[in-house]
Amino acid sequence: MTDEKKAALDNLKKVVKEELYKCIRCGECRTVCPVFRETPAERYTARGKMQIAEALAEGRLEFTEHVREALDNCLLCTGCAAQCGSEARADRVIMAARQAFAEELGLPAIKKAISFALTQGNAALGAEARVGALFQPLLFRGVPGDSGLYRRFAMPAVDERQYIPRLAAVPFRKRVKFAGKAEWPAVTFFTGCMTNYAMTEIGDSVVKVFNALEIAVRVPSEQGCCGMPMLISGDRAAVRKAAERNVRALAASGPEEPIIVVCASGGHMLRHGYHELFGDDPELGPLLEGIAARTMDVTEYLAARVGVERIAALVGEGPALAVTWHDPCHLRKAQKLTREPRAVLAAAARSPVREMAHPEACCGLGGTYCLTHMDLSKRIQTRKIEDAAASGADCIATACPGCIMQLRDGVRRGPRPDMQVKHVIQILAEAL
Ligand code: SF4
Ligand code: SF4
Repeated sequence: MTDEKKAALDNLKKVVKEELYKCIRCGECRTVCPVFRETPAERYTARGKMQIAEALAEGRLEFTEHVREALDNCLLCTGCAAQCGSEARADRVIMAARQAFAEELGLPAIKKAISFALTQGNAALGAEARVGALFQPLLFRGVPGDSGLYRRFAMPAVDERQYIPRLAAVPFRKRVKFAGKAEWPAVTFFTGCMTNYAMTEIGDSVVKVFNALEIAVRVPSEQGCCGMPMLISGDRAAVRKAAERNVRALAASGPEEPIIVVCASGGHMLRHGYHELFGDDPELGPLLEGIAARTMDVTEYLAARVGVERIAALVGEGPALAVTWHDPCHLRKAQKLTREPRAVLAAAARSPVREMAHPEACCGLGGTYCLTHMDLSKRIQTRKIEDAAASGADCIATACPGCIMQLRDGVRRGPRPDMQVKHVIQILAEAL
């Protein structure tokens, strides 16, 4: 057995030991699991997956593709952990099992390719994104009324209504290093990949809003992918690489400056993910607590540090926007943020939020899940879109670019294809 395999198996045994005894097998986690709702089999429940992980750790089950399928059929939405009265963290167990599978059987090709792409240096990734932006119009055509794209020709795994985000000609971090006056208080902006390479309007909205509040925005150019896509795949080495790079880039702005995040998954990684994985690491560990303590979702910062009254005053009079709110899993369940984004959204839209049924339900993206389990992902997406459309709102607001991509894809397949989907900071910037 290689050192890496042994380390992954030891880690699985440790996590199973820390989490499994908490599970009293009540089955409550089944009530919130989007995967179980679509495929009601015990092996897809959180408790079922934990039982499988225990059997793997104890050597009662072999690492086979058949067993891996049960553990891979999970969005890592953390809904089960949030629902569990015993505080069992099935998501930790599932991730540890996936890491062990990655060492035992290797990563599937698509996950390997994503890990490789996202762990490259910014120069290489930026150059590839720029080339992609140049050639994208040859393969894809514009979505009417939106910055996204649809395919032009038949392609494998991309149907005619699959929403593809348009790559920016110039990545956001290439354009913006520091915005505002040197004498203003500043925040450090962790952009995430989607805002940097595709939905750059979210980054521009952050700059517009914060500068209007006389707060400068610092954008460390050495930051990169948060590592969530690699974590979902089980590629621990790639997550460590991402963590190391981000922690060093973000630590440079000092121990006090808040780090604001516009991506729920990125915020979850900076706050919890890195610490859970590398808290014991002698090199990285000591830096992680400081980063976690400084990190705030952008809506949390605006609600807590600026104040909703000041936001409302800044927005002033104007037309109201009928908005509903989708809770990103990693914002609501992992970071426990529900009131702050709604308060900021209501001020930005000049209107109370029209709550949809099940705002907490996962959109079905789940990192690479939407690619590896396309049919299930679309079924989960359909429920979300139907709930959003029934709210009567004209716009779905959220706080995660990944959710935005998934919701835009779903909206155009649903009963209200005219609905807009925007980040809350974008709605606020547009109201100024
Ligand atoms: S993980 Fe929690 S909610 Fe699910 S069966 Fe175990 S104790 Fe119950
Ligand atoms: S993380 Fe989400 S999809 Fe996975 S088992 Fe838990 S509730 Fe189900």
